[in-house]
Formats: sequence, C-alpha cells, structure tokens
Amino acid sequence: MVFRKVAENIYVIDRQPAYANVTALVFPSRVVMVDCGIRLPAVMETRKEIEEIAKRKLEVIILTHFHSDHTRAIPAFSDCRIISSNRLLRNLKQANRKTPKGFKLTLPNETFDDQLEIRDGDVRLIIKRTGGHTDGSTYAYCPNYKVIVAGDNFWVDYYPWGGARNGDPDEWIQALKEYLSLDAKYFIPGHGPVAGKDKVVELLDYIDNVRKVMKEMIVSGRTEEEILKAGWEVEYYTSGIAKPSTLKKWCKIWRRKLNP
Ligand SMILES: [Zn+2]
Repeated sequence: MVFRKVAENIYVIDRQPAYANVTALVFPSRVVMVDCGIRLPAVMETRKEIEEIAKRKLEVIILTHFHSDHTRAIPAFSDCRIISSNRLLRNLKQANRKTPKGFKLTLPNETFDDQLEIRDGDVRLIIKRTGGHTDGSTYAYCPNYKVIVAGDNFWVDYYPWGGARNGDPDEWIQALKEYLSLDAKYFIPGHGPVAGKDKVVELLDYIDNVRKVMKEMIVSGRTEEEILKAGWEVEYYTSGIAKPSTLKKWCKIWRRKLNP
C-alpha cells in the first residue's frame, strides 16, 4: 500500500512513488484527491488502491498549483471533475507540456477565481486561492475532518522552495497565517510528512524573519550580496539546494516592491 492513513477518511502518499504529496479524502459518496502526482503508471495504480480502500469511486481532483510534480499525471483522471483556480489553468496552458503517449490532453474542467466550496452530504471542502509559492497556489480545507492540504505553501523537513516565476513571499506569509486561523489539526504539506500547527508556525516565522532582515537591508541601501548574506544567516531547522534560488528570488521581489 502506498497510501498512508493519517486519520479517519484522510490518506496521503508522502513518499515514493510520489515526488510531491498526494492526498485522498474519503467523502460520504466519493473520493476527492488533492494533487495527482507526476508519474502516470504509478498514479493509475494508486487510483485503484484508494478506490479499493475507500470502496468508493475517485471523482474529484483538486490541484494546488501547476508545477509538474503535482499535476503531470492528470491525464489519468480525464473522467473526473478536475478543479483548479483560473490562474493555475492559465499557468498550465502556458507550460504547454506534452501529453504522454496513449493519453489525451487533460486540463482542469472546473475553475474559480478565488474560492469554491464543494459538499458531499454534510462534509464541506473549501478550496481557496491565496497565491504564495505561485500566483495560483490554492489550499483545500475540510472543517469536518480538520485537515488543510496546503500544496507547496507548506514544506516539512524540506527547505521551502520559493524560486517560482510567479510566486510572492508576502502572499505566502498571508497564506500561512490563514491556515493558522482555521480550525485544523492535520496540515498536509506539498513535500514531507503531515504535521501539526507547530511546523506551520516555524515556517511562518522563518519567512517572516527573512523578510524583516532583508527589508531592513534594502531600505538602508545595501548591495544584493549583503542582503542575501543577511537572509542566509536567518536560522531554519532545515536547509538544502533550494535555499540560494529562493533567497535570490525573494530579495528581488522585495527590492522591486520597495524601490518601484
Ligand atoms: Zn512541489
């Protein structure tokens, strides 16, 4: 079994064969999946698996952002409702990815600007775009199951990559604050194991501290090298290859915002 049970009605693949987390929520009459992974053959197996575990059909896919580790396998779900923000759909179209042989081009077939709610019996799922990691970044929140599926606005045990072309660290900070304001117990990151509120607070504090340090340096007219060095010195419990490109991108964005 590749799906791991997190709690009643919540399943996640947070390791191979997924390169990014795949979450399955078992609703009264159907399974809803958030993000669908990258490798088609593996994903078709996992679809079978969750349908057997849940004894229900997988009918709805929600995408948190357009990056291929989260969306590439969508042709395996062409028969489903595929829900995303309009920006995600635009980003996906612009990415213009090749459809694997034997599959047909599949894109989200139900889109929204900022927020959408779906219901199954008395179970609600709120799907909301916040931006952050990308401009289309979206989370799914089920108040009944007390779970937030955050996509790549939340990383656990991995450095939070923020180098995406259309990301915004200020929106990212806002998104993390929003997660903390909700009545949730399980926070499912885009990468890494499922965590509690404490890890969200840790990431929020980190990005917020980088922002404070870098903005101060920018306002006092320091060079990019000095700003990056100061950002680099902000402590975080995990590091990694994503750190330089992330800090560079954030520095660029805050410099532009402060010196328009
Ligand atoms: Zn990712």
